[in-house]
Amino acid sequence: MQQPQNEADIKIAGCVSCVDGFIVSLLDLPDFHSSFGIRRSSLTFNAAQLEIRLMAKYIFVTGGVTSSLGKGIIAASLGKLLQARGLKVTIQKFDPYINVDPGTLNPYEHGECYVTEDGAETDLDLGHYERFLSIFTSQSNNVTTGRIYQTVINKEREGAYLGKTVQVVPHITDEIKRRMLLLGQDGYDIVITEIGGTVGDIESLPFIEAVRQLQWELPEEDCVVVHLTLIPYLRAAKELKTKPTQHSVRMLSQEGVHPDVIVCRTEEPLSPEIRRKIALFCNVKKEAVIEAADAPTIYEVPLAMMREKLDLICLRKMNITQYNEPELGKWKEFLDKLKYPKSKVTIGLIGKYIELQDAYKSILEAFVHAGAMNECKVNVVNVHSEFITEENVEEKLNHLDGLLVAPGFGHRGIEGKIIAVRYAREHKLPFFGICLGMQMSVIEYARNILHWRDAHSTEMDPATGHAVIDLMESQKAVTAKGGTMRLGAYDCQITEGSLAHRIYGSTHISERHRHRWEFNNLYLDDFERAGLVASGKNPESGLVEIVELPTDVHPFFFGVQYHPELKSTVENPQPIFVHFIKAAKDYVESKEEKRSVQKETAG
Ligand code: GLN
Repeated sequence: MQQPQNEADIKIAGCVSCVDGFIVSLLDLPDFHSSFGIRRSSLTFNAAQLEIRLMAKYIFVTGGVTSSLGKGIIAASLGKLLQARGLKVTIQKFDPYINVDPGTLNPYEHGECYVTEDGAETDLDLGHYERFLSIFTSQSNNVTTGRIYQTVINKEREGAYLGKTVQVVPHITDEIKRRMLLLGQDGYDIVITEIGGTVGDIESLPFIEAVRQLQWELPEEDCVVVHLTLIPYLRAAKELKTKPTQHSVRMLSQEGVHPDVIVCRTEEPLSPEIRRKIALFCNVKKEAVIEAADAPTIYEVPLAMMREKLDLICLRKMNITQYNEPELGKWKEFLDKLKYPKSKVTIGLIGKYIELQDAYKSILEAFVHAGAMNECKVNVVNVHSEFITEENVEEKLNHLDGLLVAPGFGHRGIEGKIIAVRYAREHKLPFFGICLGMQMSVIEYARNILHWRDAHSTEMDPATGHAVIDLMESQKAVTAKGGTMRLGAYDCQITEGSLAHRIYGSTHISERHRHRWEFNNLYLDDFERAGLVASGKNPESGLVEIVELPTDVHPFFFGVQYHPELKSTVENPQPIFVHFIKAAKDYVESKEEKRSVQKETAG
């Protein structure tokens, strides 16, 4: 048989009936894999069709010594570099806690809950993956111990293990492995798996055991383990200490997993001697000891990892020889703009979880992206809504150039938010309301323009006479809390000529949701007659998605029922954020103009 020249030839040849013989002869060719320039292939076929399925390779990222070392950022940075070299990459996170997903967790516990297109409530690290790689993740990209056990227990109830004792090994570990490999079937070259928690935790043992088994089962070149650890600097001794890293690698080895690469978080540069010591005692190559120094912004980390050759070391271990020089033009352009802004605005973030930065992670990152796009430094100041009153609102907000009222749940701090929205509306201060923030703007308008003093959301006041924000019909029978909100991507139809239309440059958009309450369409006509425009609606249900004031009334007054911050990425900053920062810049200019006119007239 003539040797096929490329993949297409194989597909065509595969259509002939005698596939089995053909395949055997292909596999027998000594240089079959290299002749197609593919790294390793598994051939699956049936009588009608022959298909080449490239096997994904797997990189596991574990953490040692302490939590909060930034495994998510390292995983995302490595993913970015491999993607920039032309490989198809995805990242997933395995979390060792027993909640089925983080949807019911208080932001104080675990930071923001990140929602994917398909409506999964996930760990905030998935936000980093999407922001760095400009990819969509999904339910499959975030798995918790709770979800693993739920699957195994459901199978047990269905009788899948009849007669057998169901155990952590092999049943739980098999389910973990199945899910670790799942995304590898979606055509990715590389699947990066971040293992939450710290090596040595009781909870993460089954995950580490699953990695151990995969390291053993997969071909050597299909599996890389990157271990992130801390190299503390003892100021008194003026020395970096490697002992905690040695211990954490030893712990990992005791659990049967040997790291290929050690990424060291450090405040001070690693000397060649320290690198040699880590390599020697942790049994890795010297070039596989990577320095991850503290960076001024997380967006510098991919470039720092590139300088340390983290991507090349992984590629070498995976025996991948065909890759491009990293294409990071857009990324570097963004970093330049971020580092050298030409102007500055101060935005007030009004929320109730403001003590914890992670609670509004995606919003803060969207400001970074939008700021860079505007070549403007965005200084976000946190304003606790609980402490805003009519008496102090002026003093609390008058130094701001824009106001963002954040998403949230429950009644704490609500009145302060409404007072803040009123201030922004009356002082023509750019206002951006997200989800609960948009609902607050509707209530404010009802109370102060429509003069419905009792207007409220039934979330806070179930007996209100004007339920301008009400529970969705579909939510009324819902009692379970986990995964039952209106979640994930929904379409929105935008009114032509509106501010929303100008912002998006389109009349059809899709954004992600996470809420139970809605604008009550019973009052829509009243609002529109009073000047508040519902410029975006769901095309099927008619649910209001966007409210705005005409720009001749207010320069930027914009509320959205959805969460636009979730789709902002380095390479595609979210347009509302971009326009909001632009409006804040204009506001600064108008303030300065006013000031100079006042000076002139006073002079
Ligand atoms: N609590 C409101 C609701 O459920 C808003 C939710 C949010 O801001 N994400 O509708």
